[in-house]
Amino acid sequence: MSCGNADPFLTKNPERNCLTMRVLVTGAAGFLGSHLTDRLLGEGHTVLGVDNLSTGDLSNIAHLKSESRFVFEQRDICQPFDPGPVDAVYNMASPASPPEYLRLAIETLRVGSVGTENALEIAQKYNAAFLHASTSECYGDPLEHPQTESYWGNVNPVGPRSVYDEAKRYAEALTMAYHRSRGVNTHLVRIFNTYGPRLHPSDGRVISNFMMQALRDEPLTVYGDGQQTRSFCYVADLIEGILRLSRSGEHLPVNIGNPVEFTILECAEAVLEVTGAKSELRFEPLPQDDPTRRRPDISKAKAILDWEPKIDLREGLRLSLDFFKSKV
Ligand code: UDP
Repeated sequence: MSCGNADPFLTKNPERNCLTMRVLVTGAAGFLGSHLTDRLLGEGHTVLGVDNLSTGDLSNIAHLKSESRFVFEQRDICQPFDPGPVDAVYNMASPASPPEYLRLAIETLRVGSVGTENALEIAQKYNAAFLHASTSECYGDPLEHPQTESYWGNVNPVGPRSVYDEAKRYAEALTMAYHRSRGVNTHLVRIFNTYGPRLHPSDGRVISNFMMQALRDEPLTVYGDGQQTRSFCYVADLIEGILRLSRSGEHLPVNIGNPVEFTILECAEAVLEVTGAKSELRFEPLPQDDPTRRRPDISKAKAILDWEPKIDLREGLRLSLDFFKSKV
């Protein structure tokens, strides 16, 4: 695996052999948490995965049933817990799709605040590296385009989406406070729209909706006029960026996402092309505070992590096709 003397996990815990690093992943049964768990196990680490299964799904980790280096515990991180010594904590737990965090409004605020504080306490107690999964939603409906990490955002603090946006912004403030006041080795990744296998087929996000609708020969539901933009990152690219960041000396937020920007109509076109479907488009109302555009400036990730995405949208959709077909 890729650890050496420069690895902050190893230098933080010199008594532990990095080959037997023990890692806590919160939200391990979720889309990103389960892919991250796979990568960590693939590198030879031991992973304790926790998830309260509010939006996570055991089917995402079913293939790890007989993996001796993986332990799963169903628990809510809003209740304090002690996982024993760990070398790294990846805080991935949170509802993440708009319909789910609107349904779980209070829970989303709690996991970003109380849950994240509990995870930070664990990192502090065991001198572990800590990475928090933050989001491009910190930029709200951005007035600066593309978004650099130094942009403070344009967020409605009381709109329906605020339960997610403000939870994530609070979690960033909390994480920086644990770094500055308590010396915890923290990292903040601002994740832009990500897709791939295990993106929940019914969680209401655009790629999962379009893929499932196309495969069922149903109309694709385009919200608004479809001219709003997003920049879609394939999950394997995103996980690579997260791992590099968690092993870097960077404590301020870093954007990880694919900077190639698509309108939602272009996204629909790509889905129709990859699936071969002939579905029509059905226009529906735009949800409140739906950002009109979003595109990461990834100069910082390129410079400090030597990272950039490698998989374009059509290739990523092709790589996701079997998964969505299996869910039809
Ligand atoms: N969207 C859409 N049709 C759908 C689902 C989403 O047109 O069936 C739009 C949504 O309004 C937004 C974009 O696609 O402008 C991305 O939405 P998603 O929920 O995937 O993520 P967001 O970036 O809003 O968190």
